[in-house]
Amino acid sequence: MSAERPSNPQQAWDAMLAGNQRFVTGSLAHPRQDIDHREALAAAQKPFAALFGCSDSRLSAEIIFDVSLGDLFVVRNAGQVIAETILGSLEYAVEVLGVPLIMVLGHDECGAIRATIDSTLGNLQAKGEFIQHIVASIQPTVRAANAKGIHDIDTVTSLHIEDTINDLVSRSKIIREAVEAGKLAIVGANYKLVLGDIHPLVMVGQVS
Ligand SMILES: [Zn+2]
Repeated sequence: MSAERPSNPQQAWDAMLAGNQRFVTGSLAHPRQDIDHREALAAAQKPFAALFGCSDSRLSAEIIFDVSLGDLFVVRNAGQVIAETILGSLEYAVEVLGVPLIMVLGHDECGAIRATIDSTLGNLQAKGEFIQHIVASIQPTVRAANAKGIHDIDTVTSLHIEDTINDLVSRSKIIREAVEAGKLAIVGANYKLVLGDIHPLVMVGQVS
């Protein structure tokens, strides 16, 4: 990204795309990760985007978007499932930090999506009590997809990203109003593990 902090949804999205393109082509800039930058940031953070993505270790936000310390406000959990703490974190990013973009990032071969598909078939292997919460959060999407004859993980993953964004906008008044005011856009995208590129699926607000 440029030295200027992106200040509107389109600039923020362009910066994310440009950073991902550097990652894909192996021409990383590793912007501003030095000691001076760390010290300059200590007084206040001013990230230009929030990222809500899966915890998968291959989805390291700052690396795959080639951004700096202080650029991204990152919220992640397995399968990027909405919860009250997630909504609160994203509201904080929008209301207090003033980010103009929220990216919701899923990926191919997601273990949480796979576990939910397996669970729907009665084959869930994981025993963790709280893993059930994650599966239960994704299950409505899987069941609705199955009812339409959709079973493949890629399509289910895309539908889950759509449902997640709908949930985000319908449940958070702060986020909904920021989108309506043109101050915030939300982009839902899928990350491909092999090529490292992102594929936008859903765009809400003034961004293209
Ligand atoms: Zn995942």
